[in-house]
Amino acid sequence: MYRTHTCGELRKNDVGASVTLAGWVQRVRKMGGMTFVDLRDRYGITQIVFNNESDATLNEVANHLGREYVIQITGKVEERQSKNPHMDTGDIEIIADSLKVLNPSEVPPFTIEDNSDGGDDLRMKYRYLDLRRTPVRQNIELRHRMTMEVRRYLDSKGFLEIETPMLVGSTPEGARDFVVPSRMNPGQFYALPQSPQTLKQLLMVSGMDRYFQIVKCFRDEDLRADRQPEFTQIDCEMSFVTQDDVTDTFEGMAKHLFREIRGVELEGDFPKMSWADAMKYYGSDKPDTRFDMKFVELMDVMKGHGFGVFDNAAYIGGINAKGAATYTRKQLDALTEFVKRPQIGAKGLVYARVEEDGNVKSSVDKFYDQAALQKLKEAMNAEPGDLILIMSGDDVMKTRKQLSELRLEMGRQLGLRDKNKFSCLWVVDFPMFEWSEEEGRLMAMHHPFTHPKDEDIPLLDTDPAAVRADAYDMVINGVEVGGGSIRIHDADLQQKMFEILGFTPEKAKEQFGFLMNAFKYGAPPHGGLAYGLDRWVSLFAGLDSIRDCIAFPKNNSGRDVMLDAPAPIDDHQLDELQIKLDLKEK
Ligand code: ASP
Repeated sequence: MYRTHTCGELRKNDVGASVTLAGWVQRVRKMGGMTFVDLRDRYGITQIVFNNESDATLNEVANHLGREYVIQITGKVEERQSKNPHMDTGDIEIIADSLKVLNPSEVPPFTIEDNSDGGDDLRMKYRYLDLRRTPVRQNIELRHRMTMEVRRYLDSKGFLEIETPMLVGSTPEGARDFVVPSRMNPGQFYALPQSPQTLKQLLMVSGMDRYFQIVKCFRDEDLRADRQPEFTQIDCEMSFVTQDDVTDTFEGMAKHLFREIRGVELEGDFPKMSWADAMKYYGSDKPDTRFDMKFVELMDVMKGHGFGVFDNAAYIGGINAKGAATYTRKQLDALTEFVKRPQIGAKGLVYARVEEDGNVKSSVDKFYDQAALQKLKEAMNAEPGDLILIMSGDDVMKTRKQLSELRLEMGRQLGLRDKNKFSCLWVVDFPMFEWSEEEGRLMAMHHPFTHPKDEDIPLLDTDPAAVRADAYDMVINGVEVGGGSIRIHDADLQQKMFEILGFTPEKAKEQFGFLMNAFKYGAPPHGGLAYGLDRWVSLFAGLDSIRDCIAFPKNNSGRDVMLDAPAPIDDHQLDELQIKLDLKEK
């Protein structure tokens, strides 16, 4: 037997027991004639004592243990003289009577401590060592508990977990595909699924009624902190449902997760906010509603005072940073620099402070007299001590997005984005289409299988850009944690959708014929959603990047630095696939 107990298990009432433990050497300390070893495994750390008086040879071996050696010890549990209240096993120690080195270790490239001295790249290269660190391991454990709770909840609601293939066909809509050459079908390629969207819809046609899958999805997109080329979705679909049926079911799941994992009881229904309102008041389709600071449109208030920037603007909006009138000139300059950063791209920022006596002082006092500034104060609902920040621009949506970045930054600076506070909502009524400059055509904002809102269907013929979708996103603390829609189940409507998206009938048939064919054989009304598992876990763990909750993540260039992938393949593999490379000069 390798062990009788784990390293996190023994307590005071085990005193006197003979035990065998196995694990990794965290630390060796010599004190007088004694050697102390912190022995670690997944469950915790136990202090092992080697005592010169009882066995000098044993102590000598212990003295030569290095960090991360894998050892097995036997010994007696004793109560500690100096207890460690910070450790679960801090009341006891093991007086060792035997020690076996199961495997020595080279000196690890970084310390396996909560705060490691390893930089990002090193930690990723030796991810198996990084995963020994408690905070990283805890994220992986959290992920496990969350997937178990997801399964428990969905099973209790009658969902079937069904796998769909990983080798599928390439589809032109959405992101870029990862493709896989087929040796048996030379010159032909599979694609890895961006999501099992059409397959889960086909399962509904099969009568499976309620499906889910915790599934890897692949998108060849540029990467950001909350994106990985492969990521995991909790993918779901239901038949005979309206939007409320779907959102109720998955709001229920969100509440279940909050209760079981975080011990948080979320009261009441999640509000539903229209996309139009989200853009108007927050400049974002995933507003962080932990704090208010809503946009106020200031076109009427600020125009017509001779200030050219505002007079020529298509949009002027302000936010009220409550209590921030104490901001110094330096802080305000830093905010201006913030909005001018290329990622945000604004031209500038106007501010107005409400002073203790109620007077308003602004950076554009030259153009606005006190009476005009009082109007501004009123419009912004501002009080003494508040700081009003105003942005303008000639493109409404673009300016709102810039103001949104400023709002988030102010929320951060004012401590309003507490990671332990949760604000959940649904954003609904997204536009069905968005114009793509790149493609010069309308694209589906969600995906082409999304059902338009019933009352907007007539607009498909007259004003498609105005059509709203029966789609919904769940947003928590400014993170889109999931989204879905009611789907089209009518072959003709689906055909029409493809037409609006610029597919010729032939192209639509070639790409999606299987789906439209299936719709001819009794497709039930259906809808669903997918949650981003990685985002849920990082939200619950309070992480800034989804990478930390993935066992083996890729870096920002999409590389696995541990496996050194992607990498060239052998000539004979290329030969078998009948593929010739034609690499362009970098
Ligand atoms: N397949 C969609 C996505 O990946 C989610 C859904 O509509 O269910 O975004």
